[in-house]
Amino acid sequence: MRLQDKVAVVTGAASGIGKEIAATYFREGAKVVIADLNQEGADATAKEFDPTGKRALGVAMDVTDEAQVDAGMAKAVSAFGGIDILVSNAGIQIVDPLDKFDFGKWKKLLAIHLDGAFLTTRAALREMYKQGRGGSIIYMGSVHSKEASPLKAPYVTAKHGLIGLAKVVAKEGAAHGVRANVICPGFVRTPLVEKQIPEQAKELGISEEDVVKKIMLKNTVDGEFTTVQDVAETALFFAAFPSNALTGQSVVVSHGWFMQ
Ligand code: NAD
Repeated sequence: MRLQDKVAVVTGAASGIGKEIAATYFREGAKVVIADLNQEGADATAKEFDPTGKRALGVAMDVTDEAQVDAGMAKAVSAFGGIDILVSNAGIQIVDPLDKFDFGKWKKLLAIHLDGAFLTTRAALREMYKQGRGGSIIYMGSVHSKEASPLKAPYVTAKHGLIGLAKVVAKEGAAHGVRANVICPGFVRTPLVEKQIPEQAKELGISEEDVVKKIMLKNTVDGEFTTVQDVAETALFFAAFPSNALTGQSVVVSHGWFMQ
């Protein structure tokens, strides 16, 4: 039990990577808050983990909405007595070439990834500083925090931005024992990626099989997708890490696609 009695808020935890991180934290003894735009999914996930509701809570939260973020974080504090871990994970993908990219879609993507990270961070830091027991803030970056791909301009921009935010949190948070890290996964077969396969096939004029083999997994060492478990184990490692030694660092979890 590496997170016994810790309180963790995971955004976008009704699905995919966030759900697996919340499940892993729950298994390790944490009280988990499943914060998601999809309230039904958040409630169902919390129930799935803990039907008694004592250690898992679903919270409706649009991470781009200041009032909803502050209210959701306040709910977490009043239900479980504080916040020790924030995983800012909620995200979407929109693919299009730059010369055709719709401005509204650009702004929407940046808002979810960057405004969402800022708003949840600010609310978590306020609580962590007040509590005086430190904390861990983890951002879901991507190989696209380090590398670019065509058709993904706002995503690559936002994911690079999260590395900068994490470094500032590491510097400002240190005096309060708050650490910050970024996890940078390769392709993980979640609904977010399932949606991209036909979209990219259409955009690039190739088959869906080729999108997987020749684009998504082309540069991995084993031709395999990164799994939600690969990412959740890394999120556990950072959340449970006992010192400031790794603060400000990002780690790529990509089956060798991108090596630093
Ligand atoms: P997913 O689509 O399975 O889950 C995303 C969750 O975020 C959903 O439950 C959705 O309801 C929620 N969400 C979307 N907009 C939201 C908002 N405004 N407020 C609150 N919640 C919102 O996706 P996933 O693949 O699990 O992605 C999770 C994170 O991992 C994202 O940040 C994504 O960019 C990142 N990531 C994914 C992959 C991958 O290959 N799947 C790779 C690298 C990074």
